[in-house]
Amino acid sequence: MSIRVRYAPSPTGEPHVGNLRSALFNWLLARRHGGRFIVRIEDTDQSRKVEGSVAQTLDALRWLGLDWDEGPEAGGAFGPYYQSQRLDRYHEAADRLLAACAAYTCTCTPQRLADLRKAQQKRKQPPGYDGRCRKLSPEERAQEREAAGAHVVRFAMPEAGETLVEDAVRGQVRFENPLLDDFVILKSDGFPTYHLANVVDDAAMEISHVLRAEEWLPSTPRHLQLYRALALRPPIFAHLPIILGADGGKLSKRHGATSVAHYRAEGYLPEAMLNFMALLGWSLDDKTTYLSREELVAGFALKRVGKTGATFDLDRLEAMNGHYVRALAPDQFAERLRPWLEDGLPPSVVRPLDGARLRAIGPLVQERIKRLTEVVDLTDFFFLEEPLSYRNKDLMGKGFRDNPSGALHALETTRATLAPLSTWDAGAIESALRALAERLELKPGHLFTPIRVAATGKTAAPPLFETLALIGRTQTVQRLDAAAGRLARPDD
Ligand code: GLU
Repeated sequence: MSIRVRYAPSPTGEPHVGNLRSALFNWLLARRHGGRFIVRIEDTDQSRKVEGSVAQTLDALRWLGLDWDEGPEAGGAFGPYYQSQRLDRYHEAADRLLAACAAYTCTCTPQRLADLRKAQQKRKQPPGYDGRCRKLSPEERAQEREAAGAHVVRFAMPEAGETLVEDAVRGQVRFENPLLDDFVILKSDGFPTYHLANVVDDAAMEISHVLRAEEWLPSTPRHLQLYRALALRPPIFAHLPIILGADGGKLSKRHGATSVAHYRAEGYLPEAMLNFMALLGWSLDDKTTYLSREELVAGFALKRVGKTGATFDLDRLEAMNGHYVRALAPDQFAERLRPWLEDGLPPSVVRPLDGARLRAIGPLVQERIKRLTEVVDLTDFFFLEEPLSYRNKDLMGKGFRDNPSGALHALETTRATLAPLSTWDAGAIESALRALAERLELKPGHLFTPIRVAATGKTAAPPLFETLALIGRTQTVQRLDAAAGRLARPDD
């Protein structure tokens, strides 16, 4: 069987981790077996449509490197790939079901349905349609349709027996038919519901496997009944385990951001995100944490998808990201920094940034950052021409606490030592400053604090000697002078 899988997002907002985890697992299955990965936009719920959501979804897929073989922008032989452009197919299916008495028109008003729900709640019964219109004769239904003006079409679920879902992850799951109500398949606005459109399209697009989140499992017996009534062959189903927040509840906004765009904006690398998401419900062997895209593709198997909930552990994601940041080749790392710096540095800094400078800075910070966003704050002083601002408290540090004249002396003697240095490189700077510390009878750390703060404007910065070497003699001396000037005035 050739594998055809799909990612079927509803454009109701920014794609979140749960959604894209489904996309990823489908993509992996397709790539593992040389199949096709299809994107289908399920945009039949007009009231929940959010402008820009499709573009965000496609962007997220591109960012993660989940390329699709058919779908928006890609085209394909089974299009169109927007459900809103396939309405005739759903009507045709609904007509067939009506003709076969597997569906019926329903004119119950929203008010009646609300009252029904309330009464069911009161009696502690499961909510669901009570089949009022199903019991009418065809003539009565026709009369009611005429009188009401608007109607929906409902599927006539079998009233007895059970529906067995054979799930590739969970095994056999049984659903009792009497507990499944006659759900709507065509709404009064002429649009299909998710159930009808999803089934019609999965069949029409020859989808072989449906990998989707566990929350859809209760829909699957309904879908199976639709397949049966339409005489269509169902795909293989695999429901992916629920994603949990750190507190054990289903991952949701209250756990913090869940949109993938958020993590992208926070400086996570797509390769880390991909690896992290792959482990939300799947594992190669219970011990391997780091898997490249190629290793994921080679190792992916449905039988290794778990049944139990997978926890979204932000600390794990952060640690993984640090791993992938450190694993980048130096040149690659430098180029990854570019957009963050060009975005984050003040407008006075000339763009595009110099590639050689980025490559020189890279090694000073690559080991120290977990997320690319951190780089702006950690390296801005390498790019700024304007004077930095200082607090005397920082310039004095622990070594010169409440001792501005001591810190001032340290800066002045440093200036006198560095300004005439014959070679300007990290080694020469280090020897000169260590000798100075000895001469002044200061602990090196105590002397280096005011120098570091003067040169960078920060108390924590990349390694000092390399930093000074890269900043250059002129700017180092200027900044030592400016910091000395600052020490002459009290803190505000
Ligand atoms: N449109 C559904 C969603 O937004 C698709 C569910 C499915 O894969 O069947 O998740």
